[in-house]
Amino acid sequence: MKRLEKRLLLASPTMHDEELAFIHEAFERNWVAPLGFNCDGFEDEMNTYLGGGCFSFATVSGTSAIHLAVKLAGVRPGDHVLCSDLTFAATVNPVSYEGGVQVFVDSEPDTWNMDPDALEKAFQKYPDAKVVVVAHLYGTPAKMDEIQDICQRHHAILIEDAAEALSSEYKGKKCGTLGEYNILSFNGNKIITTSGGGMLVTKDKTKRDKALFWSTQTREKAPWYQHEELGYNYRMSNVVAGIGRGQLLHLDEHRARKEEIYRRYERGFQNLPVKMNPYLPQSKPNFWLSCLTVNPEAMCEQIRTGTETSWKHESGKSCPDEIAAKLNEYNIETRPIWKPMHMQPLYKDKDFISTGVGEDIFQRGLCLPSDIKMTEEEQNIVIEAIVECFND
Ligand SMILES: *Cc1c(COP(=O)(O)O)cnc(C)c1O
Repeated sequence: MKRLEKRLLLASPTMHDEELAFIHEAFERNWVAPLGFNCDGFEDEMNTYLGGGCFSFATVSGTSAIHLAVKLAGVRPGDHVLCSDLTFAATVNPVSYEGGVQVFVDSEPDTWNMDPDALEKAFQKYPDAKVVVVAHLYGTPAKMDEIQDICQRHHAILIEDAAEALSSEYKGKKCGTLGEYNILSFNGNKIITTSGGGMLVTKDKTKRDKALFWSTQTREKAPWYQHEELGYNYRMSNVVAGIGRGQLLHLDEHRARKEEIYRRYERGFQNLPVKMNPYLPQSKPNFWLSCLTVNPEAMCEQIRTGTETSWKHESGKSCPDEIAAKLNEYNIETRPIWKPMHMQPLYKDKDFISTGVGEDIFQRGLCLPSDIKMTEEEQNIVIEAIVECFND
């Protein structure tokens, strides 16, 4: 097998023709400034896609949308906020922007997402907590019935970080509609992209309008710039929104390709001591990233310090960092599972409700190339290279 000439990426933008047409229109009408018809169109089209009376608001990033959600949820300095632990840092950083205090809630093994039992424990320990932030890792829906029930019982507001989960479904309902405030991301590596961007989604129109007010510098009604509250510049531009409108037309097609990639890995790994990232039978993930975990008995020794790794090869065994190094030789990108928040130096003094699951997935797991432009031949090379790791 030979090294690929062009690097195979985890996920990269896939553009079609419609994106350019929408941008063209923005240029022709000299409407490249923020706000405008593409923003309105993108939001309307997303509302239709998500269904069920949603009001979305397009932002410059998913992170800014989470910040707006945290503000709308009323997080004040010193408030405890119960957050997914095994996720990307952008899920939880905006809690700090408002002075909130994260309490990290560990994962369960069935979806890798927030464990409802651990969430209940967190509420026992922090009965004052009023906000929960849950992420759907790699596009796999969390156990939302249980999580919604617990939030209701404790009168807490649920923020859903669906940045990785646009087009995923839980019991027939779309991710991005399951919390009181929900967010999406259109960052370059997501299932659809606007180069950079995000959305806040809520069923409460007044809350959506409040987000618009904060995101456009809190201009009060007056002949001059009059401000009573702290404002932000978080609104998506009309050019960028044009890319989003074009991409949205291809979202379901992207999802279908992602699923094909996942199924092909599943078949390719049949005789290896590894498992794919799991999901519930009542959910339909978008398979944004395909991931594997090495079975515990097939793990060779892997030692990670704060920023470095080493491993000892053993015949018939392997580990994520060895697999990553091998794939890198073939010019193939991988990434370890997102390092849990409670293990991050930034958050070392925050409380953590542990199940032991997140650290174990981080230790044994790896994200695989899931780019929808990857050919079958290229994916076979990925699979073959992983087989090699276990065969010598
Ligand atoms: C990408 C991502 C975000 C942040 O989105 P940006 O648009 O990059 O700001 C938030 N949460 C999760 C889980 C993500 O993967």
